[in-house]
Amino acid sequence: MAGKKQSCPSCFGSRMDEFFALQGVPTNSCILLKTRDEATSYPRGDIQLAFCPACGFISNMAFDPVLTEYSGRYEETQGFSETFNSFHRKLAERMIARHNLHRKNVLEIGCGKGEFLSLLAELGENQGIGFDPGYHEDRTSQSTARRVTFVKDFYSEKYASYKADFVCCKMTLEHIHPTAQFISTVRRAIGHRSDTIVFFQIPEVTRIVRDCAFEDIYYEHCSYFSPGSLARLFRQCGFDVLNLDTEYSDQYLTIEARPSDGTPRPPLVLEDDLDSLTRYVQEFPAKCATILNRWRGRIRESHARGKRIVLWGSGSKGVSFLTTLEVSNSIEYVVDINPYRQGFFMPATGQQIVPPTFLKNYRPDIVVIMNAIYRDEITRDLDAMGLNPEILTL
Ligand SMILES: [Zn+2]
Repeated sequence: MAGKKQSCPSCFGSRMDEFFALQGVPTNSCILLKTRDEATSYPRGDIQLAFCPACGFISNMAFDPVLTEYSGRYEETQGFSETFNSFHRKLAERMIARHNLHRKNVLEIGCGKGEFLSLLAELGENQGIGFDPGYHEDRTSQSTARRVTFVKDFYSEKYASYKADFVCCKMTLEHIHPTAQFISTVRRAIGHRSDTIVFFQIPEVTRIVRDCAFEDIYYEHCSYFSPGSLARLFRQCGFDVLNLDTEYSDQYLTIEARPSDGTPRPPLVLEDDLDSLTRYVQEFPAKCATILNRWRGRIRESHARGKRIVLWGSGSKGVSFLTTLEVSNSIEYVVDINPYRQGFFMPATGQQIVPPTFLKNYRPDIVVIMNAIYRDEITRDLDAMGLNPEILTL
């Protein structure tokens, strides 16, 4: 592992050890691209994942924020999946019950299309404010609109006057390179309101490095946390850590925290992960090469035998699968149940995104599912169309 000169964006430790690199990957996976030309000429950037031996944080040290775009044409919602909606609702109910969120003020940083904030507002009769440059007014019901205000902007210190009892931030921190700076901003914005609960949800990196989940490494995600590295960052930025959890088949990591009163509190059991993380990172390059070769061989051989292969899931994992494996020529279409993504094209590789019903005539031999958690849901959809392809999952 080569030592990098840049310091850790989380703990400011002086060393970052690079362990995985990809060149020329699309700098955005969720953007809607109208033509194949626009898709194949989409801007590219590099990934140089590096590990901080002091705090366990993993960062893409080649990340350039200028190359990313979060706008109205960013389409990332998972809200068309029953599996996801059921998880999301349970999560909102759990937060409401645990933190007594009834007739309170909730604030969401990076609220996307506002689904989670709407759930918190409706289920707990709360008032909400959400910040996201990619928000769309037409996705919010009238009943939610009475309770929730949306601001189409990135959250920053200029919004510190919006006080909340519950500050949440889901699937956003992983898009931010200066992580310590960001969490410190959140802490400063809360000021002296020491009973404010802060809830963050992000992808969990232990599984990614341990199992070589290469599909979960892509450009927009420049910051990767384990329970320990996330908790260490929050403590360093002036929070007490109340709870750490992994969920959604260990794909997500959540943290609940509260402003610290200055008394140091003992770490939670899950935080003790620096040794195991260090080992997984050391083993990652060799393990990952084996897994990538296996997938590449499987897809290319099937294509050579005349099999029709489609991917199911056109989001970031799908983009990463196609660009990391370089199997783009073996796959013609990518399926997505989100109607807002259908008809558009995959960045860099240019496959058209089609609705599930497209498969009735296309009759694929192999469907590669980008997230195993949706296997039952997708198999049911295929059965209902009278299709029985071979199913592969990541
Ligand atoms: Zn660090």
